[in-house]
Amino acid sequence: MKIPVDVSVVHEGERIRKEDMYVELGGPKVSSKGELVRVRKPGEIRDGNVEVEGPDFDKLKEGGRYPFAIFVEVAGKNVEEDLEAVIERRIHDYCNYVEGFMHLNQRYDIWCRLSKKSYERGFNTLKYLGQALITLFKAELPIIEKIQVTFITDEKKVEAFVNDARKIYEARDARARALSEEEVDTFYGCVLCQSFAPTHFCVITPDRISLCGSINWFDGRAAARVDPKGPNFAIPKGELIDEVNGEYSGVNKVVKERSQGETERFYLHSIFNFPHTSCGCFESIAFYIPEVDGVGVVHRDYIGETVLGVPFSTLATQTGGGKQVEGFLGMAIEYMRSPKFLQADGGWNRMVWLPKSVKERVIDDIPAELRDKIATEEDATDIAALKGFLKERGHPVVERWREVEAVEVPELEVMPVGAPGGIKIILQNAKIHAEKVIIKKIK
Ligand code: SF4
Repeated sequence: MKIPVDVSVVHEGERIRKEDMYVELGGPKVSSKGELVRVRKPGEIRDGNVEVEGPDFDKLKEGGRYPFAIFVEVAGKNVEEDLEAVIERRIHDYCNYVEGFMHLNQRYDIWCRLSKKSYERGFNTLKYLGQALITLFKAELPIIEKIQVTFITDEKKVEAFVNDARKIYEARDARARALSEEEVDTFYGCVLCQSFAPTHFCVITPDRISLCGSINWFDGRAAARVDPKGPNFAIPKGELIDEVNGEYSGVNKVVKERSQGETERFYLHSIFNFPHTSCGCFESIAFYIPEVDGVGVVHRDYIGETVLGVPFSTLATQTGGGKQVEGFLGMAIEYMRSPKFLQADGGWNRMVWLPKSVKERVIDDIPAELRDKIATEEDATDIAALKGFLKERGHPVVERWREVEAVEVPELEVMPVGAPGGIKIILQNAKIHAEKVIIKKIK
């Protein structure tokens, strides 16, 4: 079967805009979507087989958006269940090698597009995509001896598939929840996203799943064992420098090496000072809200504006790209379940706003006394409303406002450098809260 478009790493990073797409599969406007890899016994796999359950590309209406699932089954004598999540993450890369096909995100959140150009060149069946995946998986991961791929576009079948897949994601994450950073001497790194964000890499610990949410500590360990020179690698954690911020000497050493010297330190559990970098695959963003001295969270599927008055996409531009951006952190929703979740910043005591659907997902992990004190879009859509809500509910951040109000700030006169008697003031790592700033003309 000859694929009518090019398949190569050069197409990675290609974005397909709405006006150029033939169809969209999954994505924020479709409720059912997902992808999953399962390890099978060799006899259970028809090696090289591709199935399409539901209408194929040539039966889908141009410009339409459809439910979508990608199911990959693999076998091989060295392929263990522990590797499923890591193999699954490669679906993203390999789909993006296909000219005119875009794949974003992971797990229950995938978002794909086929370009008009590729469709017109004859890419009219998902079988071509399956063929490309099979060839790439076998070439790049030779431990895979047998592989079959099923694509699902039938709405009911996608729904059932995603319901089952969610149980498997949950079981993977629950396993990692039982461990803590203190119980291991090795963390794991991932550089898969350096093709998009060359200075970013993920540090994965038992208390901190990767920011895309698809690789936990066990997955990182399994991948590093079978392919130590691959994108997942071991990080000896070294000395604990700062328990609260989550700073380790071994992590800092690797941060410097793997970020090409761009970043020198990571605080694993804070959004301030030296936060973990973010690529572009994060499931959600934690953002500082200076007006209330609290932290908000928004996830990728949230439609509309956050309490800051900007949507997820605007915050994502600010957060991503592999730079360390104080006050912004790309993260997985699963990280909100970690006992070390932003512990240096106050953890849940600092959380003031998040979308209702995220709150519902993590409600059991929010301390009971805080559940009705954290606002959603139903309680506050701007800062003034948020302030009122937090005050009325007695959120712990309100205490922080009182502390700031209690500090008396002496009047300070600053004159520009070069002016007679002028001085230069350099404030490093300082946060300034001022009731008013008066700028006077120098006579
Ligand atoms: S977000 Fe992190 S863990 Fe996930 S693929 Fe990218 S680098 Fe790897």
